[in-house]
Amino acid sequence: MSAQVSPTRSEPLALVGSFLARTHSLFIDGKFVPAQSGEIFDVINPATGEVFAKAAAGGAADIDLAVKAARRAFDSGPWSTMNPPARRNLMWKLADALEANAQQIATLESLDNGMPLIMARGMVAQAAECLRYNAGWAGKVNGETPTISAPNHHVYTLREPVGVVGAITPWNVPLIMEVAKVAPALAAGCCVVLKPAELTPLTAIRLGELVAEVGFPPGVVNVVTGFGDPAGKALVLHSGVDKVSFTGSTVVGKSIVAAAAGNLKRVALELGGKSPVIIFPDADLERASAGAAEGIFRNAGQVCVAGSRLYVHKKVFDQVVGGIVERARTLKVGPGMQLDTQMGPLVSQKQLDRVSGYVQSGTEQGAEVVIGGKRLEGSKGYFMQPTVLAQTTRDMRVVQEEIFGPVVCAMPIDDEDLDRIVRVANDTEYGLSSSIWTRDISLAHKLARRIKAGTVRVNGGVGIDYAMPFGGYKQSGWGREYAREGVEAYTEVKTVSVAL
Ligand code: NAP
Ligand code: MG
Repeated sequence: MSAQVSPTRSEPLALVGSFLARTHSLFIDGKFVPAQSGEIFDVINPATGEVFAKAAAGGAADIDLAVKAARRAFDSGPWSTMNPPARRNLMWKLADALEANAQQIATLESLDNGMPLIMARGMVAQAAECLRYNAGWAGKVNGETPTISAPNHHVYTLREPVGVVGAITPWNVPLIMEVAKVAPALAAGCCVVLKPAELTPLTAIRLGELVAEVGFPPGVVNVVTGFGDPAGKALVLHSGVDKVSFTGSTVVGKSIVAAAAGNLKRVALELGGKSPVIIFPDADLERASAGAAEGIFRNAGQVCVAGSRLYVHKKVFDQVVGGIVERARTLKVGPGMQLDTQMGPLVSQKQLDRVSGYVQSGTEQGAEVVIGGKRLEGSKGYFMQPTVLAQTTRDMRVVQEEIFGPVVCAMPIDDEDLDRIVRVANDTEYGLSSSIWTRDISLAHKLARRIKAGTVRVNGGVGIDYAMPFGGYKQSGWGREYAREGVEAYTEVKTVSVAL
């Protein structure tokens, strides 16, 4: 484990030099414009703590212009009248453009967010796939022809685009989060105003440039960088917005529900999680340990579906936890741009303080730090050690609250009482994801039905694929993204009833 900034490859940096040297603009109505206030803000590299770019700080006036542009493109402009294959083709072109610039975009993402370059590269490929998957739905989200009780009627439903969408996204996997909203909205025929996270604005800006380059009509996609308050807030309050799709914290999600009440705009929420990982003694323990470690240390635990509550059968507890500790010990922590890095820094000083604060609260409440628990010495970056806590109990904050860092709480269970395991797994206000490791298929399916979470993974089943609906039970959110459900979420159903 090392936070030393060893020489990074120079080719990726050469790809982003001229982009970073610019002071970036907002992308509104097909044009690049400064914020009306003229304000800009610093973009920080979390591996060094240094400012490495500047972005425009959009405010309410800029949001108003962007929403009006999106309204024009939707109400009278070309997007709503463009036929589905033409929309589909533009989305494919955008996917191609992302791939053609993959190394550059991945470098921006790694510098901005801190994630390892190789992971960022995977994210660009995933974003392109998200666009292509959703492009396939353009023109294929149809209504139905219900058989009604009254005789001599012909009734059908239409699925129409909801209209102008305000998309508000977090910093943890920025490009993916942005495209995961823009792509299905475009496929459904909507126009979008995107407000990316202030901590990681760069790939959203680059996305706006590519939208312009591949020839989307003005106003179809707008990007307003800036702060949650005022920019995000103004977007949620704007009466010209028909739907807000938000990914972020549960606290901000709740404030969005209240702020959206003005025009009762539709609200979709993808929020936090405290996902359980349940490992039974008959599981493939090697794979289960590796999966559990990956599930909490990937992206330094800054993942909404992170498996942060680990429940291991007491018979194999030491073996499994030992395997995770060993992985934590050998994980290479360093700058995302260093080629052998497996885990990058946390995104900000604030996030580092938050995660360290949680570890401290855990130890104050009686938890044992089995490994990690500290920031890495000798670096100005926001590096945190991969951390395993034991002796944790349900009443501790580290077990109840989302830490959003590389910290797992390991707790023993037994399998004498399935009801008890279900109670423990569901003992959280969240319900985003969950994992079960066992070779007993009956047990796996029984548990899968009883866990209150949007996703149940069995033996390492994939967590995210654009053909799988994704979203949360309870306070992990409202609605589903991805798959057919994700596109339908950007539509309204109209019923047409005809007397024959
Ligand atoms: P956050 O503070 O809730 O911010 C998310 C976005 O909302 C940012 O763009 C933020 O702008 C904006 N925002 C802040 N206050 C706002 C307001 N009053 N009105 C409108 N917009 C506002 O969350 P975060 O710290 O960036 O991200 C971490 C959280 O996201 C975690 O809880 C994590 O679980 C969750 N998350 C969930 C998923 C999922 O799919 N379920 C995926 C990823 C992350 P600023 O950047 O200026 O603050
Ligand atoms: Mg940054």
